[in-house]
Amino acid sequence: MKTRALVLFSGGQDSATCLAWALSRYEYVETIGFDYGQRHAVELTCRVSVLARLREQFPAWAAKLGDDHMLDLSILGKISDTALTQDKAVEMESNGLPNTFVPGRNLLFFTLAAAVAYRRGLHALVGGMCETDFSGYPDCRDNTLKALQVAISLGMDAPLIIETPLMWINKRQTWQMANELGGEEFVELIRSETHTCYLGDRSALHDWGYGCGKCPACELRATGYKSYVATARP
Ligand code: ZN
Repeated sequence: MKTRALVLFSGGQDSATCLAWALSRYEYVETIGFDYGQRHAVELTCRVSVLARLREQFPAWAAKLGDDHMLDLSILGKISDTALTQDKAVEMESNGLPNTFVPGRNLLFFTLAAAVAYRRGLHALVGGMCETDFSGYPDCRDNTLKALQVAISLGMDAPLIIETPLMWINKRQTWQMANELGGEEFVELIRSETHTCYLGDRSALHDWGYGCGKCPACELRATGYKSYVATARP
């Protein structure tokens, strides 16, 4: 029975939506997060509040929600020189990628998550990677993750599925998916408790959530929310 999943849960909008998606499909779900010296480490606090509120407000999901795992990946911050782990401005590099790209991050995340899943008897890894509204990160691409699924399954001699429910939808549709999974109550939880801003700014609550409102992550989140409100609640 492949009904046990491990969700890569950062505390952001996308992974929180993926967590609800997994809780609505699998019989048992655990979560995993990574501390890699990210500047927006506030998301690590947010993930604790999101999990607590999920348990309080959504009893059906709470019954399926198991352990949370937190892995120290500070080594990643030490070996990568990016705007996510260093105090520098977010800008485009000559290779067409923003300097928020942490090389190999998702490859590492999934491989470590697979090691935990193997030990815990979990058969699916769920992540919020997306090719639709993305910054061009090559490790978010569908083919990269399909190849990784094959490599991990072979390398651990245990069939393991990588699920990416947001891969082909845009940010408006991600808000819409949250609504379909948990209604307005879950949308409100995502709006007020999850974190997306690259700069870790939680000084002001906008209608789309907390954030600086200017970094690429905030812009995507805000634009998606406005479009969602315009179409979902006429
Ligand atoms: Zn921001």
